[in-house]
Amino acid sequence: MPFASNEQLNSPSMPAQQRSSARGHLAVLDDEAMFCEFVGEAADICGYDAFFTTRPDAFFQHIERHPAAVIVLDLLMPGMDGMQALRRLAEEGVKACILLASGADGQVLDNAICLGREHGLNMTGIIRKPIDLDALRELLESQVQVVSPVIQAHLEAALSGDELKLHYQPILDLRTGRPVGVEALVRWHHPQLGLVMPSAFVPLAEQGGLIGALTDWALAEAVTQNAAWRSAGTMLKIAVNVSNASAPDPGLPERLERMCSDAGLPPSAIALELTESVATGDPARAMELFVRLRSKGFDLSIDDFGTGYSSLAQLQRLPFTSLKIDRSFVSSVLSSDASASIVLAIISLAHALGLTCIAEGVESAETLLFLKENGCDCAQGYHIARPMPATDIPAFCRA
Ligand code: C2E
Ligand code: MG
Ligand code: MG
Repeated sequence: MPFASNEQLNSPSMPAQQRSSARGHLAVLDDEAMFCEFVGEAADICGYDAFFTTRPDAFFQHIERHPAAVIVLDLLMPGMDGMQALRRLAEEGVKACILLASGADGQVLDNAICLGREHGLNMTGIIRKPIDLDALRELLESQVQVVSPVIQAHLEAALSGDELKLHYQPILDLRTGRPVGVEALVRWHHPQLGLVMPSAFVPLAEQGGLIGALTDWALAEAVTQNAAWRSAGTMLKIAVNVSNASAPDPGLPERLERMCSDAGLPPSAIALELTESVATGDPARAMELFVRLRSKGFDLSIDDFGTGYSSLAQLQRLPFTSLKIDRSFVSSVLSSDASASIVLAIISLAHALGLTCIAEGVESAETLLFLKENGCDCAQGYHIARPMPATDIPAFCRA
């Protein structure tokens, strides 16, 4: 068996803290030396202090000394398989985000994730072999927030500078096969940390009282961008994510209406994405706000549907226009009968309530076909296109 480890890098002669570790420790256990090195290098680039090894004993010794923020674990290894390793991690009370790596089929991976969760572990994703560098970097970056004080201190400045950008991910109409909209997703190009994904700073913006400013910034960007696309003949609806923390803002409908009229954009060209839990705090106020937004002509979409705890009655009462099926169901629709049943039930529920149904996280042609054949209206996901800069959207639409 080939043996590889970067233990030397973490030896006392070169303390871990001296190396870039904005996101903390990441440990990889995999019997393929090349895979270990590849993930280790990607992790270094993403700002982790990476350790990798092909030997289970070295792996467990290391994480005992340096508690990992993220663990990448091979599911199929000679000597100790991933299931045994998961049990041991659970026995040791490990709190890390755990990513499973495997070329095994979806069902085996789904089962392993369920088993890990049964053990109380924080199972956060899958790295499929053969490995895709872009997908790997995105996954690693989304695991752990870059050390908060760095972010907190810089976010306010970033909001008034030009470090934040919106990327846009196309949404296809499944009947015509044509793009009908895009979702706006914020990216932060930090001068020292590089690309910072929203999972690393949106929660901090919520806690630090900056979320209202972030929402207003994203809405203003999206409105200006959409007006520019329209005047050049690209007709799309832009969906903007509105955090639950900024949703109770009673001034939002008027501000957004003014932004649109200043830019000459019809309100129907903007959709607001909210999650199911948005109305759990103060349902009456949320209802009033949503009715006002709808009456001004903005679309309202329920994001990540199926993961929250909203009652069906609430779904009927609130004036939503579309519903987005959470990607956890969509990505496993072909490998899990339960996910397929849930997706089918959500599609018919949406249609029964007169809502447009959008599937998120479509990663394969087969999944796209399943959704189309079962009457889902629209789809979004890496198989169609990844989020991209605004300048790439018109060419995507023409193609
Ligand atoms: P979301 O609104 O559910 O956005 C969809 C997320 O799924 C995006 O991640 C997108 O890049 C990712 N995605 C799309 N297709 C696929 C796929 O096929 N496979 C996989 N694995 N992922 C896919 P992103 O951009 O990292 O955003 C994460 C979350 O951050 C968003 O989830 C949203 O809740 C939040 N967010 C993003 N931009 C903003 C913003 O401007 N304001 C606020 N308040 N929240 C934002
Ligand atoms: Mg969204
Ligand atoms: Mg979503």
